[in-house]
Amino acid sequence: MVSMNRRSLIRGSSLALAGAGIALGGGTAVRSATFPQQPGDAYGEWSAVTYLPLVSQKLYAENEKAVRSSPYASHLDADLSVPSEAAKAIQSGPLDSSRTLTPSAENLNVLIDPEYKTAEHGYAVLGDQMAYAQSHMFMPGVTTDMFKWWFTWHPIEKERYMLWFPQAHIDNSVEDPSRLANPSLSYEERLYGNPNRIQEWIGPSRLDAIIHFTDPSLLGFDGDKLRKLGFTASASGVCYATPAPDIPFTLMVHLARDTPAGLELFSRYWIGAHPDMARFRNAEKAPGMLRQIGFNAEVAEMTAYEMSVHDLTEFNHLARVLPALYRDFS
Ligand code: ZN
Repeated sequence: MVSMNRRSLIRGSSLALAGAGIALGGGTAVRSATFPQQPGDAYGEWSAVTYLPLVSQKLYAENEKAVRSSPYASHLDADLSVPSEAAKAIQSGPLDSSRTLTPSAENLNVLIDPEYKTAEHGYAVLGDQMAYAQSHMFMPGVTTDMFKWWFTWHPIEKERYMLWFPQAHIDNSVEDPSRLANPSLSYEERLYGNPNRIQEWIGPSRLDAIIHFTDPSLLGFDGDKLRKLGFTASASGVCYATPAPDIPFTLMVHLARDTPAGLELFSRYWIGAHPDMARFRNAEKAPGMLRQIGFNAEVAEMTAYEMSVHDLTEFNHLARVLPALYRDFS
């Protein structure tokens, strides 16, 4: 019997379904005045993210205090911005099912197929119990080494995690921090099989989950195909809710490779229950657990949209702050 309620997994109310958005406008001025390091021409106009849920505004005040008294104070950057086209794309409604993928192993390999074309950013509800978000972006000035360093460095202290998305990230820890920090081990040996508990706001909903990062081939990717296509880093895995740590409820994919335009990143989030999750142990328990906490199609749609906004915001922000953090702390 799972003893938890919806508030302990995805906290939020249907009143908040309108949720977070991105205020468009002033992008060109914002970009040229504040963000000269962004490759404006690659994306065109940028927009400041000026709408944040009240919980995020309150969290920022707390996070600012914490980071100001840490060694990372000078790296705290509260200005969020995203390419305007991407923001508009996710504000035009859910993707048609012809442009989404279900979480089967076969579809993971479709996702990396150079012939496969879909929207760069978008969200959808798959079935009636799964939120889905997708993105494809470039992180200018970021390399594979920086990306790998980030995923083995930031979970050690919550103040580091806060730098990534100061208005949404609450706390972060791993089961074995000394292994995560051990420089004599490879990235994979440090991160994989080292459960990572995250606490953050996804829009107005609080997420408390444990990510089990793992080798992408164990998720269903063809490892040879990944190598042939030049993918050099993965931060992918299955996630479990902290109150129900044996039931997989999310498959998350971040696959990266170096390009002249910066690190290219493909991301996917499948949050909820779906028959194509069956290859993960205990997946059959997810539908009942989700019903019990009220995770229905309406909540799934809100979660998908907010996840898409969160992903767009945090990975563009990471691109902005990571090169200097790597320079100063790696
Ligand atoms: Zn986040």
